[in-house]
Amino acid sequence: MIPFIDLKAQWKHLEAPIRERMDTVLAHGRFINGPEVAELEGELAKFAGTAHCVSCSSGTDALLLGLMAAGVGPGDAVFTTPFTFIATAEVISLLGATPVFVDIDPATFNLDPAALARAIDALAANDTSRHPLPQGSAGLTPKAVIPVDLFGLPADYDAINALAKRHNLFVLEDAAQGFGGEYKGRRAGALGHVGATSFFPAKPLGCYGDGGAVLTDDENLANIMRSLRVHGQGGNKYDNVRVGLNARLDTLQAAVLLAKLPEFSKELSARRRVAAIYGEALYDVVSVPAVPEGLASAWAQYSILVPGHGRDAVIAKLREAGVPSMIYYPKPLHLQEAYADLGYGVGDFPASEQAAHDIMSLPMHPYMEDAQAMEITAAVRAFLA
Ligand SMILES: *Cc1c(COP(=O)(O)O)cnc(C)c1O
Repeated sequence: MIPFIDLKAQWKHLEAPIRERMDTVLAHGRFINGPEVAELEGELAKFAGTAHCVSCSSGTDALLLGLMAAGVGPGDAVFTTPFTFIATAEVISLLGATPVFVDIDPATFNLDPAALARAIDALAANDTSRHPLPQGSAGLTPKAVIPVDLFGLPADYDAINALAKRHNLFVLEDAAQGFGGEYKGRRAGALGHVGATSFFPAKPLGCYGDGGAVLTDDENLANIMRSLRVHGQGGNKYDNVRVGLNARLDTLQAAVLLAKLPEFSKELSARRRVAAIYGEALYDVVSVPAVPEGLASAWAQYSILVPGHGRDAVIAKLREAGVPSMIYYPKPLHLQEAYADLGYGVGDFPASEQAAHDIMSLPMHPYMEDAQAMEITAAVRAFLA
């Protein structure tokens, strides 16, 4: 079976520097807040082009730190897309705020700014005829928006940031899949007030466990998130100035990332090469992902649409041919049981629902040979052409 993501090939390629970095940590023994953590934060900020980086224990905690730093809480509305991983909305609910879902642009799978504008107006007017709103949304304060860089492609930040400015919304970029992506000369993670990313092993830049980071140019927010990450510490861990979390990144994970980071740009090019092979070989039989002018995807996933009712049959045929595929995401968040109390229903976000019905992701990793990429596209074509 062809691997969906080949971490073993990456390990083979980077074993020496990863072992060396990990051995250094084992020798100095500072497993929490060792020197690798600050070193990594410096490198990540440099890569993303932000003034500050605060590493943390996961992408979910990165999102949580961003929202906590913005002061999001009960009575607040946070706009986001229902076509994403549950973590994006979960953090809103964990803080007692209310997710207000906004549909995607079907061409990019990312938050549709025109729909966001309608949702903001509908919430202000408490008028569900303009845009679907969650139950009990009357009187909520519009506070923040979380655009997601889905599959590695940055959302439409010019339009979203302009709307956010007009309506005084905090912009938290969910760059869990986007790190390495680009938007008009700027890097993903640097596109909102705070960018949150994940180093979960399967993400474009992954460690060997859970990990994440927040990126920002705002020194005040960076300091608040640094404090929140260690139980809301003030002068020291036993001086607590706010209610926080235990959300640090392990030194060993920082060491793994430091060993991987020098190869990351090359890996991003390799992902682009695979995406180009897929696109050229498949554009006439399925809908292939579009990258708008001036943007670059980190290609966390390569997702195609099989319109009609063919998607599940294609997945089964590919499996027979030894080609794995995944569905990101089979059920949009507004239809999840966990969010039943928001009162949304089928038909509220048609573009997200259509994508969930038609989408599938092909194997994608930087160590794929051209021949294997061709073999995968041949398997898709054999069934569809
Ligand atoms: C992976 C992911 C997260 C959460 O990251 P973890 O490190 O797994 O907590 C959040 N948002 C999106 C879009 C993701 O893909």
